[in-house]
Amino acid sequence: MATFIVLLGPPGVGKGTQAEILADTTKLAHVSSGDLFRENIKNQTELGKLAKSYLDKGDLVPDDLTISMIRDRLNRPDCEAGAILDGFPRTPAQADALEMMLAEFKGQVDVVPYITAAESILVVRASGRWTCRAQGHIYHQKFNQPKQAGICDIDGSELYQREDDKVETVTKRIRVYLEQTMPLVEYYRQRDKLVEVNGAQAVEQVTKDLLSALKK
Ligand code: ADP
Ligand code: AMP
Repeated sequence: MATFIVLLGPPGVGKGTQAEILADTTKLAHVSSGDLFRENIKNQTELGKLAKSYLDKGDLVPDDLTISMIRDRLNRPDCEAGAILDGFPRTPAQADALEMMLAEFKGQVDVVPYITAAESILVVRASGRWTCRAQGHIYHQKFNQPKQAGICDIDGSELYQREDDKVETVTKRIRVYLEQTMPLVEYYRQRDKLVEVNGAQAVEQVTKDLLSALKK
């Protein structure tokens, strides 16, 4: 049975950073809905054109578009053994759709680490984030600096600051998270999948806590 891990938590808490590390350790695919939208916007696809205004405003992209994008992604061969889901699901309707997709793909959500940190930490992290143009690798101007300023250590591409990482948009995204995504905490707690992880620690410590959550 394929293994799916859903990383739940507010914007800026460290989901993408941890997903990169966990994908490396577990050899599962890293599926980031935000990266997929940004890739579509960069390539000016139909989906990218439809999604752009939502990302710019810090709103969620409608469920139907998001669900069909993820369905296509999970159908690719690298997800056969499972995936680390980073940023999906973000609404109860997306979580229900995921259950149905996984039943079809003979997989299941094994565990949902819920990574938390105070809002002040989220704003400092997101507003100092630098993202790699080619593949979305993640850095921070203070907490996780690249070896050479402005250049990705892994693929040498340019680093940029996301438009939606401006303080006003980050604050809006946190509000959207509280209104639309927080119900998933109860959703997965009721299904006995939720494990809380303190995200207000150094990256290495968060990884250790996540790995022990995955063993449970
Ligand atoms: P999310 O995917 O949840 O939005 P990211 O993984 O992109 O969050 O992290 C947001 C920012 O915080 C990035 O700049 C990242 O380098 C930084 N970061 C991630 N985890 C930590 C941590 N434990 N301590 C300090 N900074 C972190
Ligand atoms: P992220 O990279 O996870 O910070 O997501 C960036 C933006 O992409 C969000 O603010 C939303 O506009 C959009 N997005 C990412 N994942 C989803 C999702 N599961 N549902 C709806 N919108 C999403």
